[in-house]
Amino acid sequence: MSREGVTPQSEDFSAWYNELVIKAQLVDRGPVRGTMVIRPYGYRVWELIQADLDGRIKDAGHENACFPMFIPESYLKREAQHVEGFSPELAVVTHAGGKELEEPLVVRPTSETVIGEYMAKWIDSHRDLPLLLNQWANVVRWEMRPRMFLRTTEFLWQEGHTAHADEEDAMRETLWALDAYEKVARDLAAMPVVPGEKTPGERFAGAVRTYTIEGMMRDGRALQAGTSHYLGTNFAKAFEIDYQDADGELVLAHTTSWGMSTRMIGGVIMTHGDDKGLVLPPRLAPYQVVIVPLGRKEQAETTAAKAHEVAAELKAAGVRVHVDDKRPQLSPGFKFNDWEMRGVPIRLELGMRDIDNGVVTLARRLPTEEGQGKEAIPFDEVAARVPGILEDFQAFLLRRAEEFRDSRTAPVDSWEAFTAQVAQGWALALHCGRTACEDEIKAETAATPRCIPAAGEPDSGVCVKCGEPSAYGKRVIFGKSY
Ligand SMILES: [Zn+2]
Repeated sequence: MSREGVTPQSEDFSAWYNELVIKAQLVDRGPVRGTMVIRPYGYRVWELIQADLDGRIKDAGHENACFPMFIPESYLKREAQHVEGFSPELAVVTHAGGKELEEPLVVRPTSETVIGEYMAKWIDSHRDLPLLLNQWANVVRWEMRPRMFLRTTEFLWQEGHTAHADEEDAMRETLWALDAYEKVARDLAAMPVVPGEKTPGERFAGAVRTYTIEGMMRDGRALQAGTSHYLGTNFAKAFEIDYQDADGELVLAHTTSWGMSTRMIGGVIMTHGDDKGLVLPPRLAPYQVVIVPLGRKEQAETTAAKAHEVAAELKAAGVRVHVDDKRPQLSPGFKFNDWEMRGVPIRLELGMRDIDNGVVTLARRLPTEEGQGKEAIPFDEVAARVPGILEDFQAFLLRRAEEFRDSRTAPVDSWEAFTAQVAQGWALALHCGRTACEDEIKAETAATPRCIPAAGEPDSGVCVKCGEPSAYGKRVIFGKSY
């Protein structure tokens, strides 16, 4: 068995990504263009994201439900902006059961419409509010330029859908979801995302306000990693989601929707990966530790037995661990490279000499402030020390990503500085707020407004592009994006 590594990230970022997702066994290409098969190694990463986010969603009082994937076409047409926004991406079923259907069915691209229909049915009085629903589902949006995890025709996500008595409560909900996404990205994926509001030109189809978390990838591009929308009464009007208030008056509800998808996995790959391959943050790593027993024949049996002993202790300490003892035909060097390519945070090597010395040899996926090269750890200290080393590694990745993002972000006040800055990272610029001006910027530089950062300092002046007075009262982050 021979395998070249992946094209180095520094040489060709795009080729690196496309090769890596396949070679690291995260995904395989699906039989239909733009679809992906998520392999067990990639699905485990999703499960870890899902478990954390689902806990947050339930703790905040939401309940999971599951709505049908087929939506009557007429539902989508009820909210004009919504259908206009999604039309080009829809997959529509026209035939089923051996005949043409009376009404075509849309395979859900998102579920505001079908859930709106049932919210209207289930909500009568103010006592039924807020209605806090979430579903874990697959959705379909036909992709012309597919890319594994980032843009696939079918993907997995959760979609929260909630109905509230008034704008204030719906906005509280919208920002709660944004905050939950920021925590998942930061605490679990070690992605230092920037939360903020989208400009009107970048809003979700049918939303009054759209909020986003934006991460910077290692090529300087932005990735929108989760969005939360305040829908006002747009969908409530279209689906008659109303209720009797305390005075018996019939009032429209205010709704929200919010989603985070398998796209996050692409974000993890591009935030932390390097020339050698994946670098997984320990909290999302299917295997946090891989033990490679060394030696041949009887020696291999001895080291493998000891490796399983160490693995059992680590497992008892709550560590996800794998022993690589089923591939005797492969050299140790090959295995080390393979696990590095697959992003395992910590590798433990175990040879006869280690056993004689009563130690395992520990190697981190990347040198950190806490440890540069390999180090020997006595057997009786492994279970006690490894969890702390994993936590340090997790914190190191977040710090490193923050430093990288900050080094590629700068305020700019001239068009010349703007174009130079978005060629390598993010520009903080004053903007007039006009969509036509955003379009010109995009046409000339491929950069778009990523968000109006929630934490941005008050600032005003003239638009970096057209010179008209700035909007928003603060600088906007511009960058190229995925
Ligand atoms: Zn402008």
